[in-house]
Amino acid sequence: MNTLIKEITAVLPDGDGYKTELCDIFVTGDTIAKIAKPSNAPEKYNADKVIDGGGKLAMPGLINAHTHSYMSLFRNSADDLMFHDWLFGRIMPMEDKLVWNDLYWGTQLACLEMIKTGTTAFLDMNICRDAVTKAISESGLKAVITRGLVGNGKNDPGGLERIEDTLYDLRTYGENRRLAFAMGPHAIYTTDREYLELVMDKAAEHGLWINVHLSESVKEIEDCYKEHGCSPVEYLDGMGMFDFHTVAAHCVQLSDNDINILAKKNVYAASCPISNAKLGNGFARIPDMLNAGVKTALGTDSAASNNTLNMFSDMTFMALCHKGNTRTADAVTARQILKMATETGAEALGLTNTGALKEGMRADIAILDMNVPSFQPINDPIAALCYSANGSEVESLMIDGELLMENRIIPHMDEEKIYYECNKAMERIDG
Ligand SMILES: [Zn+2]
Repeated sequence: MNTLIKEITAVLPDGDGYKTELCDIFVTGDTIAKIAKPSNAPEKYNADKVIDGGGKLAMPGLINAHTHSYMSLFRNSADDLMFHDWLFGRIMPMEDKLVWNDLYWGTQLACLEMIKTGTTAFLDMNICRDAVTKAISESGLKAVITRGLVGNGKNDPGGLERIEDTLYDLRTYGENRRLAFAMGPHAIYTTDREYLELVMDKAAEHGLWINVHLSESVKEIEDCYKEHGCSPVEYLDGMGMFDFHTVAAHCVQLSDNDINILAKKNVYAASCPISNAKLGNGFARIPDMLNAGVKTALGTDSAASNNTLNMFSDMTFMALCHKGNTRTADAVTARQILKMATETGAEALGLTNTGALKEGMRADIAILDMNVPSFQPINDPIAALCYSANGSEVESLMIDGELLMENRIIPHMDEEKIYYECNKAMERIDG
């Protein structure tokens, strides 16, 4: 299938930054075959479908580098709680009541929201086998899926079963080109060293990389110093975890030495600024991390601590919180944030062929309506993406050349049923 996106304003890479240009985007199969000035069509190109780009903006699909999709069920049900009370006092007791259907429909809700707000790929951590992965595979989104691994010692039956969940999904869904799998050791406070070493052995055995929560709360840092005499970053570095490709979510509480380690070891930080603020964990040292060369991507975390999976909200908040916190208006710029939310996110997820509108890349494209107040007048669309857009402008979403959503219609998802099933689940879990 060839799709021509005709005369659209496109967000294109420009050196270290971005520019916008009016152009035609020629999609052949799953790939961006050509981006050309209007009326410079490549020879012998026959479009099966033409999208009129008038008044619209094409941007690379957003990449959410940290979330827990099933937890969309818990949206607006665990608020105004400090992180440890939130997790251990509220979230985990609700999680104990989840059955297969809840996990499946909660994940459908998450995928629906991500499609509607321009996300094309995400890094997920879940608590089960099959249900979440099945829902994601049906959504058509790209994802790297990790089973959250909690365990003590190398013979802990629960810990071993969780690793087996990862391998089960890898075996069952490994053929799906839009899905990949990684090992997801949950955090240093829900695992011990022996278990983490087992997880790394299994990761090496199956050629998988690592997705871990790291340095999220002050308590995590204090407990780590008490127990191990070093910071969480130093602790994981000391056991060789960062020899794997690693995505570390949060990275809020970092020392100078931690920042140097992350930069030197090419660890991807998945910063989740709204979740970090909402749970009272603070602000990551993003300007320092960027200056030191830490590859920093952007994540929403789950809807239980955000409370949306709308990357536009996190882009805006990422910019504003660091400008305000450092009293420096250019502490993080709109263009840096767009890069975090696209190109660096793709790298973090190990996706080498997406994250930018470039010839030869996969056609993962969000199309936004600019004929709305948040984009008018059209002065700088890239500034609009970071500072004035809210996600509702996303009109169509293409992944691998396939339109998952067109003019806000998502034919393969039953919105009404998703809402019904999620409400029914929460009545049982927390009614
Ligand atoms: Zn998380």
